[in-house]
Amino acid sequence: MKKSKTLLLIASLLVTGLFVTACDNKEKNNSADYDYLVLVNKYSQLPDDWEKNVELADAKNAWDEDIKIEKNAYKQYKKLKKELKEDGVEIELDSVYRSVKAQQDLWDEWSADPEKGIDYVRKFVAVPGYSEHHTGLAVDICIKKDGKLIYDNDEMIAEREIFVKIHKKLAKYGFILRYLEGREDSTGYTYEPWHLRYINSPEIAKEIMTKEMTFEEYLNSIKDLKKVPSAVKYKIEIALQEYFKDIYKDKINNSRFNITKVYTEKELKNDTMKSLKIGKNEFAFEVTYQIQPKEEIDTKELTIPDGEYDEDLGWVKDIHRVGVLRYNEKKDSYSIDEFGTGW
Ligand SMILES: [Zn+2]
Repeated sequence: MKKSKTLLLIASLLVTGLFVTACDNKEKNNSADYDYLVLVNKYSQLPDDWEKNVELADAKNAWDEDIKIEKNAYKQYKKLKKELKEDGVEIELDSVYRSVKAQQDLWDEWSADPEKGIDYVRKFVAVPGYSEHHTGLAVDICIKKDGKLIYDNDEMIAEREIFVKIHKKLAKYGFILRYLEGREDSTGYTYEPWHLRYINSPEIAKEIMTKEMTFEEYLNSIKDLKKVPSAVKYKIEIALQEYFKDIYKDKINNSRFNITKVYTEKELKNDTMKSLKIGKNEFAFEVTYQIQPKEEIDTKELTIPDGEYDEDLGWVKDIHRVGVLRYNEKKDSYSIDEFGTGW
């Protein structure tokens, strides 16, 4: 096998430089074809096919328990850990991958428990499908100081100097700090110095870390949307939130999205929906979404024919729509257009 690969490389060297680049990339990039910039937060759902595509490696946490973590994230984590140790900082893994099913089981078990109940669960358990830990790319670490393991949240936050050292080295290995201090407005979470996110690109990680951006801000800042599928999805979500604010006024608290398909101009031409016209920087999409009505609002007022109100969750869910993300060149801004049940 090795021999034939070498031969192929030599042959392509003779043909053109382009071929060499393609070959080279294949050799280096043995990672799966999933999007390392995937956005999963309180309002943005894990893509449906993520769990069947993600490649997980076996690892051990600080308590020697078996855990799973995305394979490239694990490779780079081990390098990060090694370099930190040489600098006198010891880190260990805490919580990493959690399946949607495990999260659902926890949700069901705790909400059936009379001592906890649904209000408790809503407050303390992430909604299944909306935790970044489902990706296998989110890594909670704990630290060792003078041989003692520190894993309590408040105790970790108090170890400022140690975490400054850790955060300085993240980008080099393709990690970012996900929940920045004082940026709950953007991330939905308060400061978590221990929650790292692997994005598989030291260059992008460096940009995010040096500019002290949240991951959401980075995705929103991307101009050439076509190159970054997760940025397109995030733009659609932001535009949808604005759109809902407009149509529901102050009847809903929040909305959550699962963008299941995005069409570029080119892709639309080859589809049954080719009658729909979109421009160069525009995208058509399919979305399944949920909205959370304000407590005092009768859900009938919202007139969503296909939505089902889930009393446990307090959300109207499983609403399916198609729509178009329009670009306004003058304002350099995006908005939702042609939003409906089909075209
Ligand atoms: Zn975490």
